[in-house]
Amino acid sequence: MQVLSVRQPWAWAIARGHKDVENRTWDTTYRGILAIHGSLRMDHDSLKNPLLRDVGWDPADPMAATGGIIAIVSLDGICTTSKAGHPCDCGPWAEAGACHWQLSNPRPLPEPIMTLGQPGLWLPAPAVMATLAKMMPAEALSASRG
Ligand SMILES: [Zn+2]
Repeated sequence: MQVLSVRQPWAWAIARGHKDVENRTWDTTYRGILAIHGSLRMDHDSLKNPLLRDVGWDPADPMAATGGIIAIVSLDGICTTSKAGHPCDCGPWAEAGACHWQLSNPRPLPEPIMTLGQPGLWLPAPAVMATLAKMMPAEALSASRG
């Protein structure tokens, strides 16, 4: 399992199953279980984004936490068509010119696991992994997809 730090409120939108595409400038070969970490620093400008407004951004939701792992999702694929300058069909959350990380099966945690984020994809500390294993069924955390 790998972890990706995402700024709020985008991380919340992923955890709650609204946002199924994560926009990144970079591609990765990693596929499978991805934990979503809410970065410490919020993306305040995005609060004006109509997509977020429409899905009901709720700063009181535990999944709105900053500085903790809030959910696990499946990273199914990455579309690089838009980054290459061509139109694609990744939906409203996909930004033009970005790599579109296609996410499915979001599973919010019962509560956030506080831990420091890192750039890129990163591995959780053993203590964080142990806490996660107590919260989620083993099959949810296995490397296999689906
Ligand atoms: Zn795309």
